Order: sequence, then C-alpha cells, then structure tokens
Amino acid sequence: MRRHVMWVAAATALGLTAGHGLAQAPPAAQPAPQATPPAQPMFATRKVEGTDNVYIFRYQGHQSMFVVTKAGVIATDPIGLRRPQADTTYIDEIKKVTSQPIKYVIYSHSHYDHIAGGKPFKDLGARFIAHKNAQAQLKRFPSPDVVMPDEVVDNKRTITLGGTTLELIYVGRNHSDNSLVMRLPKEKLIFTVDFVPIQTLLFRNLPDTASPPEWEESLKRVAALDWERMIPGHPYAGGRLGTKQDVQDLIGYMQDLGAEVKKAAAEGKCTDTAMKEIKLPKYEKWGNYAAFLPGNVERYCYLNNGN
Ligand SMILES: [Zn+2]
Repeated sequence: MRRHVMWVAAATALGLTAGHGLAQAPPAAQPAPQATPPAQPMFATRKVEGTDNVYIFRYQGHQSMFVVTKAGVIATDPIGLRRPQADTTYIDEIKKVTSQPIKYVIYSHSHYDHIAGGKPFKDLGARFIAHKNAQAQLKRFPSPDVVMPDEVVDNKRTITLGGTTLELIYVGRNHSDNSLVMRLPKEKLIFTVDFVPIQTLLFRNLPDTASPPEWEESLKRVAALDWERMIPGHPYAGGRLGTKQDVQDLIGYMQDLGAEVKKAAAEGKCTDTAMKEIKLPKYEKWGNYAAFLPGNVERYCYLNNGN
C-alpha cells in the first residue's frame, strides 16, 4: 500500500493522475512508437484499402480516422496538442477528398494529446461526441485547447449518416475510464486509441489506469466484437492495421507479465528488484520493450499489493 501512495504522489507531481494528457501542463504526449521511421513526412492521409470512404489522417506520431459520406464527414480526434497546424492540416486534408461538411468530431478518450485542437472543427459547425466519463474528466480539468462535447455516450450509441453506420461502444475501463471503440459494421473496421497497442508494450507504468485486470477484460470485449481490421491511434508495427490476433497477443502479454510479477511478488521482489530483474524475452521485439518493461512491471507490482 505504501508503494502505491508513493506512486500516486509522484504521479500527481507529474500531473499524471488525471491522465498523461489531461493536466494543465501535461507531460510529453505518448511518444511515437519506435517503428515510425524518422524520415517520413510530417503528415499523411490514406484511404483504408478495400473501403470507399474510410481514411486515416496521421500527423507526426498520432492518427485519426475520418469517414466521408454523401451527407457529411464524421471526423474523430483532432490530435492538435501544442501544434494547431495539425488541426488545420486535418481539415485541409478532408477538403481534398470531399466538399461535404464535417458533421461530427468523436473523441476516442479524454487525453489531450488526442483531442486538443477541436476549435476549427467547431467553427465549421461540427458536433462533438465523447463518452460521458470523458465529459466528466474534461469538466474537472478544462482546457482552452479542448472543445467540450455537445453529446455523450454511455454504453453504446449508433451514428448513421449518409448511408454509413458507425457504432460507438464502451468496453470498460482500460487506459482511461472513457475509451470508445468506434466500429464500422459494414467495413468490419474498428478504431481504437492507446488501449490496444500493436506489438508494443503498454505505456510506462500505465498512468491513469484504474485496473489492469479490467483492461484485460475490455480487450476480451474488443476481441468479441465483429471486425477484421483495426485502425490504431498511433502508427505501431510499421503503420499496419491491427488484427484480432494482435488483441489476443496483447492479452497474452498482460497475462505473461502478470504471472511473472506475481512470482516476483511472492519472492518479495516487488517493486525495485522486480523492475530490474524481470525480462519477457518472448516480447523483446515489441516496440518500447526496453523503455517500458520496468514501468509495466512496476504497475503490476502495485496490483499484487492490492492496488
Ligand atoms: Zn491516452
């Protein structure tokens, strides 16, 4: 318990208890996974292969999905924290493929590195939608750079626009308490942000994560949905789309990590010794393995201490 108290204190000092992207002066946004080659252009827009109207807009190490319909555009995270040019670029990129108005902006979750910068979309008349817990977080920690949601989602909501159906699904607490899975049933695509990294370790010591076991449960719910390909909020693993196997592999990683830490905890090695000693060679090719494994172990040690 004492370690957990120290963790909370340290996290508060870093502005992390509200989420690594939430505090007034948030620490660095989640870094681009190491698979992103440094020479790539600042931003890029691509149509998802096999679809008529689903696009991925990437700006530096962040990605957002948008869907073009004959009655307007559904955009998602503005990804404009500390770089307002990302939002205007996003809008310019949409305008290159359609003259339809942007009707919606849907927030994946409440972390600023994904949702700051919505104002240019708001000025064009878009309606903003987020999970109800995201709205609560944003009310507790308002930012002039973040547009408040106009509407909220509880467990599920379906948006239909110009012949496109988009489901907004809450699968429980994970990387935040307000992550939405956005599912396109016809295209069998989902868009998830931050809580399903592809062949990449979890972020540091899982700041803002109430419960790693609940995170695992949320992944099982994602795996149970009907979809074939996943667009992630960062270009992991060379920028490819994710699969259900990736979700299963992440669940496997969390279970392997949990089992190793449980053993270490029983030997009295949590937290510092476990952070130094535990290795998971099966995952050493995954992104951020060396950088984040000790933090991942740290968070699971707290779990063994009842937190
Ligand atoms: Zn996040």
